[in-house]
Amino acid sequence: MPIVAVDDTDSRERGMCTTYVATRIAARLADGDARVRRRLLVRLNPAVKHKTRGNAAVALHVSGVDAERAATVAVETIEEFAAAADPRTSPGVVVADRDADGDPFDPTGAPIPEAVAAFARRALRERLSVAEAVEIAEEHGFRHAAVGPAGGADGADEAVAGRGRIGALAAVGAPAAFDDWTFERISYRELDRCGTPREVDAESVFDAAAAGYPTVWDTVDRETGAAVCVPNAPGPILHGIRGDDPAACRAVAERIEGEPVERAATFLTNQGTDAHLAPGRIGDLRDGAGYRIAGTVAGEPETKRGGHVHVDVAGDRAAVAVDGASGAEDGSDAENGADADRLRAVAFAPTGRFRDRVRALRPGDRVTLCGEHEVRPDAAGPESTLKLEKFAVRDLVRTAPAVPTCPDCGRSMSSAGSGQGYRCRDCGTSAPGKVAEPIERDLEPGWYEVPPSARRHVAKPLVRGGFDAPAHPER
Ligand code: ATP
Repeated sequence: MPIVAVDDTDSRERGMCTTYVATRIAARLADGDARVRRRLLVRLNPAVKHKTRGNAAVALHVSGVDAERAATVAVETIEEFAAAADPRTSPGVVVADRDADGDPFDPTGAPIPEAVAAFARRALRERLSVAEAVEIAEEHGFRHAAVGPAGGADGADEAVAGRGRIGALAAVGAPAAFDDWTFERISYRELDRCGTPREVDAESVFDAAAAGYPTVWDTVDRETGAAVCVPNAPGPILHGIRGDDPAACRAVAERIEGEPVERAATFLTNQGTDAHLAPGRIGDLRDGAGYRIAGTVAGEPETKRGGHVHVDVAGDRAAVAVDGASGAEDGSDAENGADADRLRAVAFAPTGRFRDRVRALRPGDRVTLCGEHEVRPDAAGPESTLKLEKFAVRDLVRTAPAVPTCPDCGRSMSSAGSGQGYRCRDCGTSAPGKVAEPIERDLEPGWYEVPPSARRHVAKPLVRGGFDAPAHPER
């Protein structure tokens, strides 16, 4: 079963979309004797700066066609449809020749080589090079091609020509790299409508979303009223319906009324799985990688200009990131002093109501944070920042130190002098120091997340379950 993988065919301004190009490749292959058995939509590192939008690559698992023919069809189709005139578009194809009946999801059949699986895992959390993708592809006898003028990407720049081969190789390796999969039913517009406003009946979207929830998720954002499944970008997608069951996704898509759907396809995908996160420890985090991090809130949350909410979180010697795995991904020494380091967690303005959850944190709360780590330049030196996607409250501070009240008259005592506690001048009563007074908290233990309209494609919605504490899903 050859695997035909493509990436980097679209342009932010000119539209197009790698899933659409792949769908056209699939249609051409199916016009011959080939059978398209599966379509994978693989999301890669969301921190990669040169992505167009969601950093996606697509792999088709096909049978009844040889790898050479499949590669030819892929290249021809990309030449026809890719937005290769955009100098930032750099299409690439990788075709892996598989045993006739070997299903890449069947490890006892014809397994994906471990080096290719490892490349796919790293593509979610690192920045990789075309040279490495080409080397691995050749080592395993995969066909590969850079498509477009001078191989795309900035004309003759060898280092990035056919950059799509990075994502394409990762998409080949994905079945052996990830074990959590979801579905997306993508419906496409008629091509000559692209660039015009999408005609989709909002009421039917909300009705369909309600009927499909919770198996089908992130279709709408009920609080903001946004039809999240309908993109704003100029490409050919009319709507994309995501969920845990392909039939349920298709049923929701079919309930949506609007302009004609030219074609539709269901993808198996690592969207909504948190495949980009790994356990990490404050003070020991890489730039441009996603983490789950345990820590303790170390300052009052602050709302900055633009509405972004910042909160400082300190590493915690005893804190072990969720997953059961201990500490940093590289297993470095816990005694390196980094435990004292701080991280600035940020909930950006577009995360909307999620910011209220972050603002409700108080110093001393114990939390687990999830998001992408970025080292940001700051006047006072580089700052370790986590772009928050979700967090868990592990332990809430429930009391605050307060000046004691007099047990006789009920009025606040006054200080009896430095280090000498408090006393009531009228009644003569005294107390050794401040007392713990219960405080109202607007948070409960458990997981909180950004709303559907602010969710990254790869981030796992709480409604999917499997979290280690009560979840407070947004919908
Ligand atoms: P769309 O999903 O709409 O097609 P996109 O957001 O996926 O757009 P692309 O145009 O595909 O963006 O650009 C992403 C580019 O980054 C591709 O060339 C891909 O090969 C490359 N890439 C993906 N993951 C990595 C990585 N981990 N390191 C370096 N490059 C990567």
